[in-house]
Amino acid sequence: MPELPEVETVRRGLAPAMEGASIKKVEVRDRRLRWPIVKDFEKRITGSKVEGLGRRAKYLLADLSSGDVLIMHLGMSGSFRAGKDAKATKPGVYYHERSKSTAHDYVVFHMSNGATVTFNDPRRFGSMKLVPRAKLDAEPLLRNLGPEPLGNEFDAAMLAKACAGKKTSLKAALSDQRVVAGLGNIYVCEALFRARQSPKRRVSTIADRNGKPNARAQALVDAIKAVLNDAIKAGGSSLRDHRRADGSLGDFQHNFQVYDREGEPCLGCKGKVKRIVQNGRSTFYCPSCQK
Ligand SMILES: [Zn+2]
Repeated sequence: MPELPEVETVRRGLAPAMEGASIKKVEVRDRRLRWPIVKDFEKRITGSKVEGLGRRAKYLLADLSSGDVLIMHLGMSGSFRAGKDAKATKPGVYYHERSKSTAHDYVVFHMSNGATVTFNDPRRFGSMKLVPRAKLDAEPLLRNLGPEPLGNEFDAAMLAKACAGKKTSLKAALSDQRVVAGLGNIYVCEALFRARQSPKRRVSTIADRNGKPNARAQALVDAIKAVLNDAIKAGGSSLRDHRRADGSLGDFQHNFQVYDREGEPCLGCKGKVKRIVQNGRSTFYCPSCQK
């Protein structure tokens, strides 16, 4: 599933095609996404202007002049193409390849600036949901999300507080969207390696008895911000590089230090990267470097 850096790169790639333009027409070719697209979807958004395209965790939020916010999620396999006809580019940096088949183009936005924005999703776990702006705070998809990891409010004290009393592992805690929003398997593994902390470590050890953060909490926060910023920067460079308009990960996949590198040499010591399974997902780490 695309994680925060991928979604942010998609947002930056779609913004020039959508922001400030009106939706002249929308074609819904198949309503069966994760949740069916509502029947009055076309009626509600046609003619409205996209006043801004934002992001919260892994959700894209298009703020419409109609008073609705269009919440879009890529699910497992969703991707967008944006542009004018043959020059369409596919913004995003994905480790797992996206579909190239137009058979799964389910929603097409025709913008007043001449751009076309197409949503493609072979596995249909993506979503398109309209929510009145006034009801956004109560929206179930967003309501329980933890802080944005790149925001100022996400710091060691907040992380320690969110983890206080939890008996789970660091891997499980950082993957929990209520603790911090937008991280998934790839970036949790990478951040833990950068912070030199074991994915198996009990999360309560990042705080003292009173819930005050220790150096481990600070190291985790620093590592999370650094790995996300590096990935977004790499995504940005792949956007500018038209040879990578197919949505490949650009340079960042070569920067993975542990993710998907089972048995390969650790970049921090003479050991090898190990893979274990936690909560049904693969975790990659170095048992020597990460304690
Ligand atoms: Zn190592």
